[in-house]
Amino acid sequence: MASTYNPFENAQAQFDKVADMIQLEQDSREFLRQPMRELHFMIPVKMDDGTSKTFRAYRIQHSTARGPAKGGLRFHPHETADTVRALSMWMTWKTAVVDIPLGGGKGGIVCDPRTMSLSEQERLCRGFVRQSFDLLGPNVDVPAPDVMSNGQHMLWMLDEYETIARGHYPGVITGKPVGSGGSLGRTEATGYGVVYIVDDLLKNEDIDIKETTASIQGFGNVGEYAARLYSDLGGTVISVSSYDLADKASYTFRKKTGCNIEELVSIKDNFGCIDKEKAQSLGYELLPGEAWLSEDVDILFPAALENQITPENFSCVSGNVKVIAEAANGPVTPDCDPLIEKRGIHLAPDFLANAGGVTVSYFEQIQCNMNYFWSKEEVLEKLRYTMSKAFSGVYQLSKERGVYLRDAAYMIAIDRVNKAVKQRGWL
Ligand code: NAD
Repeated sequence: MASTYNPFENAQAQFDKVADMIQLEQDSREFLRQPMRELHFMIPVKMDDGTSKTFRAYRIQHSTARGPAKGGLRFHPHETADTVRALSMWMTWKTAVVDIPLGGGKGGIVCDPRTMSLSEQERLCRGFVRQSFDLLGPNVDVPAPDVMSNGQHMLWMLDEYETIARGHYPGVITGKPVGSGGSLGRTEATGYGVVYIVDDLLKNEDIDIKETTASIQGFGNVGEYAARLYSDLGGTVISVSSYDLADKASYTFRKKTGCNIEELVSIKDNFGCIDKEKAQSLGYELLPGEAWLSEDVDILFPAALENQITPENFSCVSGNVKVIAEAANGPVTPDCDPLIEKRGIHLAPDFLANAGGVTVSYFEQIQCNMNYFWSKEEVLEKLRYTMSKAFSGVYQLSKERGVYLRDAAYMIAIDRVNKAVKQRGWL
């Protein structure tokens, strides 16, 4: 969906709203509503056909007040500085709301890995580290995979970093493959974390998850694992959408009796694109991309991109929807929040709902530092504890103050970051 929304303006609008509500001091507002540090650079890459291409890249640190900047590195043809700024800011609130000792950062490379060979991708990853080496470090800024980047990309980056630094620094990058410094449970972490929050929310609202239905936008890492756990807990996924690069269009796949998640996983490619023909032969209805949003379900999981639910398309959201769980970053625009709040829909805000990934990234750093790795059960148990503790604080504040869940989450996060800034004596 083409969008005129600027994610950084959205992130600032959300911040300003809560800064007003909590009467945040002027000096803190000025400091916290923009990134502390930005690096914009170009990466020259030799392509397989002998030509060279130059890729634009960004690494942006919004805040290091509570710890090293932490955040993913997106590979996307439409990446912009403002998208990365917004995402770096949301990372600050994310690490703060789940109370892990990290700050917020984000990176992006304007590229489309789907059209690049593996060796071209490797040269791009190594080039990224060579250009941004001074800004990175286990105690400074720690990237991780995000949209269209993966564990292999991280390992090439780690190798380049360690080659330049002449030593082993496994904590400089997270999301590494298991066996090469990665944590078990990281693959599941973000999607599972979203469902832990939804499960807690439903329990608090006396809704049985087994009685609920859901529609999911996006079937990549986050969408797939959210769908898996939600189904394992007894929920019924009615439809899932994904983007088809060949058609340059998105499609919704619907089965009213409930999607079989394993089956859908078996017919998707590495970029989360579900095969249309195979899905139809398995009995799925093929609908336009935006159809996922108007399904008559209890829960909507936007798990693809930002700016997907706006005042323009909110009118098609069914009156039966009770929960919108922001699995993606920034899928709901700020001007749509009042409409969601007015309808009484519970919104699980992105920086709380999808904080599972960064939480297990933090666990990965701990395990790398100890050089001792936990079992998947141990990781997921610690993740569940961290997510539930964060949710409980946000939910209670929202009830006490009678505020929207997003605002309650912001109140807690901004307060923690502001305290760290003041205690350090920066302001
Ligand atoms: P991914 O690249 O693995 O998957 C993206 C999915 O979205 C794919 O299935 C793709 O086909 C689909 N998609 C893209 N555009 C679409 C459209 N217009 N309509 C329908 N489907 C579309 O990415 P991911 O890692 O699953 O991340 C998804 C979102 O979650 C992003 O906003 C990302 O920033 C956020 N997020 C990811 C993590 C993580 O650990 N991976 C952590 C926190 C937040």
